[in-house]
Amino acid sequence: MAARHSCDLCDGTDFAPIGQKDRRGRPLLTEVCKTCGLVSHALLPTEQELVAYYAGEYRRDYHGEYAPSAHRVVREWNRGRGLVQKLHEELRQNDSILEIGSGIGCTVINFALAGYSACGLEPHEGFRRYGSEKLHADVRPGVLDDLIADAQYDFILLVHALEHFAHPTKALTKIHALLRPGGRLYVEVPNFAAPHAAPGKQFHFAHIYNFTPATLRMLGAKTGFRVQRAYTAPFDKNIGLLLSRAAPSRLVVEGLSYAQTMAALKRYSTLSYHLRPMYLLDRLVNAARQFVQRCSCERQLTAILAQCDEFAARAQQDRPITPVRRAA
Ligand SMILES: [Zn+2]
Repeated sequence: MAARHSCDLCDGTDFAPIGQKDRRGRPLLTEVCKTCGLVSHALLPTEQELVAYYAGEYRRDYHGEYAPSAHRVVREWNRGRGLVQKLHEELRQNDSILEIGSGIGCTVINFALAGYSACGLEPHEGFRRYGSEKLHADVRPGVLDDLIADAQYDFILLVHALEHFAHPTKALTKIHALLRPGGRLYVEVPNFAAPHAAPGKQFHFAHIYNFTPATLRMLGAKTGFRVQRAYTAPFDKNIGLLLSRAAPSRLVVEGLSYAQTMAALKRYSTLSYHLRPMYLLDRLVNAARQFVQRCSCERQLTAILAQCDEFAARAQQDRPITPVRRAA
């Protein structure tokens, strides 16, 4: 771990502490940049530490699993299918799609089932092997830094991944270089401006950055992306942006960004968070949904695996393989 010298978004050096512990009560110093409102860890892991963490400990540490459970596969499958439904009207049939941090590969295989050429990159061996062997998803081992930046993709997915990078400006700059002219990036991160966690529970060791819509928009513009479509309502748990590859521009800090971050931080006390009118209803609906999913997940998983086996058998002879080009 190394102390940060300046803000990854605006290069500012004026930070205020806003958290001392992560959501499990472990020490984690979190700060906000007083210039642009970006929230991040005060100490950043090195690239080597991150590579080692995501290749090994992360899934067990935060998901409690080395290989995915049936419940996780079904949940991720539904999320992948939802992304295809959300994004298919933005795609051309021959687009080359890459997902960075593709996990089990449920999104990759759902795009493949919909007829697209899709592949993924995932550092964790247990999840990647499950995706390759059970789902027949085209998921390769590796991280973003492994790829050659030579404009070979039409569409890149970065779903709940950007917040894990030590240097998001560098990550989006690399993704910009991986996209062909006219290429698009769909990025989705947890929405710090939404009440997705109770006060004192917002911070997460693996989430090095916490984005608001404003800080994510600014990061996109700075690294050469134009917002084509925003999928986020103000209180959504996640921010989803469809970004188009454009020319990088000088950062213009949105004047209200810092105030918006601080307002999000102070919106609720622990009591008022739990007394929100929708809180109990949300919890009940989620608990009921999870109960139904857990009861039926083995049966659903059997159907998913059969669908993937059938797809692989059909495609075995003639499915084009999208090459992932690596730095030497
Ligand atoms: Zn900043």
